[in-house]
Amino acid sequence: DQWEPIEGDVEFKDVTFHYLENEIILQNFNLKVKKGTSVALVGHTGSGKTTIINLLSRFYEPKQGEILIDGVNYKERSMHWLHKRLGYVLQTPHLFSGTIMENIRYGRLDATDEQVIEAAKAIGADEFISQLDKGYLSEVGEGGNKLSTGQKQLISFARAILADPRLLILDEATSSIDSESEQIIQQATDQLLKGRTSFIVAHRLSTIVKSDLIVYLSGGKIIEQGDHRTL
Ligand code: ATP
Repeated sequence: DQWEPIEGDVEFKDVTFHYLENEIILQNFNLKVKKGTSVALVGHTGSGKTTIINLLSRFYEPKQGEILIDGVNYKERSMHWLHKRLGYVLQTPHLFSGTIMENIRYGRLDATDEQVIEAAKAIGADEFISQLDKGYLSEVGEGGNKLSTGQKQLISFARAILADPRLLILDEATSSIDSESEQIIQQATDQLLKGRTSFIVAHRLSTIVKSDLIVYLSGGKIIEQGDHRTL
């Protein structure tokens, strides 16, 4: 059961949720996402994007209704079961003190050096890593090599590719990076999303346009959904 693969269909079914007793955030929220779909969550601050991510990752659970993964309420599974299948790439990539190799391997400790390098290559991170004095053995994090935001993102993308989850949460960076890195990050994002069901808190127009489904939220409700041609 622990290793049983999933397809990656996700459904929010009549989900009602509040953080504070008298302050409903989502009311009978419905969203059906077929496996492999990339979903861009867009909306103003406070519209509920993060809340949807919080519920999907089960940091919070629905007060009513259910969240189904491959048709099964996730409450019937363990937290560990979910987090084996759900990957995150966060806006501010978190690197810990250690080598680049260790940082990429973080989500899959059994991976060989070759698999780590393969993941970095797949995401387009190998080029800058190889140019560092100590390559994959360069120390990062506190007191280590100073990496740019884009480089840190590539490392966290490589980590996610290596872990290979069917479900992915991507909290897209708003920080501006130079246009060359921007292009590399964009290609890496495309690679990362390929074949996975992904929920993206999207800030870049290019990501929104490319996603399969745009969900436009306001006050915890879906105001519109579709792809960029229909919206
Ligand atoms: P942003 O773009 O600013 O991140 P968002 O679209 O992600 O916004 P949410 O963070 O989901 O919006 O917030 C939805 C609503 O829930 C807001 O009214 C917010 O004030 C409220 N909220 C979020 N987190 C909490 C919390 N921990 N306790 C109480 N209320 C919260």
